[in-house]
Amino acid sequence: MTPKEKNYWLETFSIPVGEVRHLPESVDVAVIGSGVTGLSAARTLAKRGTNVAVLEAETIGWGASSRNGGMVLTGMKLPVPTLISRYGHEKVQRMYAASLASITCVEQIVREEQIDCDFSRCGHLEVACKQAHFDGYADSAATIAREFNHPLHVVPKSKLRSEIGSDIYFGGLVDELSAGLNPARYVTGLASAAQRAGAALFDHTRVENIQRESSNGTQKFRVHTSRGTLLVREVLLASGAYTGAATPSLRKKIIPIGSYIIATEVLSDDLAHELSPKNRMIYDSKHFLYYYRLTPDRRLLFGGRAAFFPETENTVRQSAEILRRGMVSVYPQLRDKKVEFVWGGTLDFAFDVMPHTGQIDGMHYAVGYAGHGVAMGTYLGTKLAERMCGDANDIPFEGIPFPNPPFGLRSGHTWALPFAGAYYKFLDWIS
Ligand SMILES: Cc1cc2nc3c(=O)[nH]c(=O)nc-3n(C[C@H](O)[C@H](O)[C@H](O)COP(=O)(O)OP(=O)(O)OC[C@H]3O[C@@H](n4cnc5c(N)ncnc54)[C@H](O)[C@@H]3O)c2cc1C
Repeated sequence: MTPKEKNYWLETFSIPVGEVRHLPESVDVAVIGSGVTGLSAARTLAKRGTNVAVLEAETIGWGASSRNGGMVLTGMKLPVPTLISRYGHEKVQRMYAASLASITCVEQIVREEQIDCDFSRCGHLEVACKQAHFDGYADSAATIAREFNHPLHVVPKSKLRSEIGSDIYFGGLVDELSAGLNPARYVTGLASAAQRAGAALFDHTRVENIQRESSNGTQKFRVHTSRGTLLVREVLLASGAYTGAATPSLRKKIIPIGSYIIATEVLSDDLAHELSPKNRMIYDSKHFLYYYRLTPDRRLLFGGRAAFFPETENTVRQSAEILRRGMVSVYPQLRDKKVEFVWGGTLDFAFDVMPHTGQIDGMHYAVGYAGHGVAMGTYLGTKLAERMCGDANDIPFEGIPFPNPPFGLRSGHTWALPFAGAYYKFLDWIS
């Protein structure tokens, strides 16, 4: 059976529409993009009495925020020793603390806004694809305990069956603090929460151009969209991997990388329990990694960078078979199970693989989550909005160097992807 080329999460409810009324002539803040970053910012701004409009080119939550694996993960993409050598102990302590606080931030919003998104503190499991990777886990756990007072536990191969129904790995590393949720329900719940707080959401409203103006010493922005023009005091760019030509200075700093997911048919209770006895969010230790989890209705959702290019009909179709082979290599038990869904989305990577917040051309931004955006996007959207309302909070990712593409190239777009794909496959082979 050919799988449906459709995001499984969207089958679990229907996406809300944005405002049908005309765009206002002016608002205090325009937020560009209605993913977790933009909506958590809009919710906070509106709760503080700011007149805010969210402008979304497609449907509300259309980007990575409704398509992802729903893993609400602690930590950052880069390993802690790399972070410390780059930014120093004190800065990295604050970054790591932010990553832990981001999980609490999601949990609080889900609770306060009563978002029905199957949020669960199930923990995550990293599995080692090589003995050398497993040998590094004890050190990683000790460093994270010492530097951040955060416990992780190492699972030797002999006990790994208590965590995962696969024998191909060399051991695991568990973080109990991480969580899982249904991302499409979560981003929709955030949209409703932002609307209840007073934010106006406009779908099918693509920002095409932004002009900076200054009159009587006051700076304003004229935001030209496919549905008209708004005059705004401040702009928050929350367009993630889908950042486009309207904001070229930010776009050139982002590498959009495709990630793809398949979901199986509904599995029996026994088989689902065998695959993931503790219902963890699981990913492996490779650079070109697989990530997987059970859904609340007991499908296995299995994702990876099957193609590095952003999603198109072709890359989605090709990914279904590549990921199915990957899934069966991990779980031979699923050899005869049907794959019912396949879809793709685009990840926002910065050239230094770090999240970034700050101002560019006078506009605020938060981007660069590198596959860790569900929690970090929610957190940074919220923090940035609090700061825009005058809070003196300190965002540890603010002000770190935000590199441009190498060799003075104009855009950080897809030219780099075949090289990046080959490079990461090479790293997986040698390390
Ligand atoms: C397949 C996949 C799996 C993932 N799995 C996980 C995971 O398990 N855990 C995790 O933490 N992270 C995961 N991620 C990453 C995570 O989903 C993202 O980091 C996060 O959703 C980014 O949120 P955002 O709000 O910044 O951007 P997005 O959700 O991408 O939203 C940006 C929005 O901006 C809109 N936009 C862009 N330009 C314009 C314009 N000019 N005018 C108007 N609107 C515009 C887009 O249409 C889009 O809807 C995954 C990503 C993908 C693609």
